[in-house]
Amino acid sequence: MAGEEGAAVSADDLAYDALLEWIADEVAPYVGEGRVADYIPALARVSPDRFGMALATVDGRVYGVGDYRERFSLQSISKVYSLALVMARDAGSLRGRVGVEPSGNAFNSLIQLEYERGIPRNPFINAGALVVTDLLHSLTGDASGAVLDFLRAEADDPTVTIDGAVAASEAEHGDLNLALAHFMAAYGNIENPVDVAADHYFRHCSIAMSCAEAALATLFLARHGVRADGSRLLPVLGAKRVNALMMTCGAYDAAGEFAFRVGLPAKSGVGGGIVAVVPGRAALCVWSPALDRHGNSVAGVEALDRFTTATGWSVF
Ligand code: GLU
Repeated sequence: MAGEEGAAVSADDLAYDALLEWIADEVAPYVGEGRVADYIPALARVSPDRFGMALATVDGRVYGVGDYRERFSLQSISKVYSLALVMARDAGSLRGRVGVEPSGNAFNSLIQLEYERGIPRNPFINAGALVVTDLLHSLTGDASGAVLDFLRAEADDPTVTIDGAVAASEAEHGDLNLALAHFMAAYGNIENPVDVAADHYFRHCSIAMSCAEAALATLFLARHGVRADGSRLLPVLGAKRVNALMMTCGAYDAAGEFAFRVGLPAKSGVGGGIVAVVPGRAALCVWSPALDRHGNSVAGVEALDRFTTATGWSVF
């Protein structure tokens, strides 16, 4: 599927399309390998045989293959946008509330939080994302609405929405996240009522987007902080920091292996999506719901590995 509709087809368009088609063929044997997340029952209903991949270049052109226009649940990918929105409004507010080190523990672990007295290791484990959501809620009065508005604007599509069934399912099965939030509240690290902060967290995790939309929404990180409309969301330094956190903490407990294989800042979610940033050039999103034991999409990692190997577009 070439660039934008109506635009002249260039050699670049043909090359990107051919590359994505080649990747889809290469990873076809991996699609369905692994397990669809079922601890949020609404996610378990998604078919494991889906695969889509989109590439958005910094000029806003989108290329895609497979199910790249089908919407899926962003889940932890949404943590990137909530973090960027807090940093855009008041980066200093994060100081002392959340760290920047990989956790080396499961994304929803309580143990480390106890040792570290309610200060999460980084903004991408669940505890860290709950703190970031709490801060965003204090700054905006509507944390999940702020994330949704941002994503609609960047994807240029007002129909992007929160999947209410997924949000309700997350809340219904959210005991562990509520426990994390209550624990942090005991240390004064959640300002809003715990159920309010958790509800906004569940809601922004339940935003559904396609690979094409998520790639567009992640382009601000490839543009060193500049949004689709040309305005600046983050200073260059802020974009650098979000990308660095994605590189070190974005792929659960496999961030090291992901850096080794793919070599790009990225964030994965248990919905099977992964967004990745090629600074100065492009953003990517790949989606295939079956996950490895760490929670990363099996076919998604394979696809990004092939992408950076074929193009040389890694940060290393
Ligand atoms: N909302 C999910 C949870 O809190 C996010 C999980 C994920 O994608 O890592 O468990």
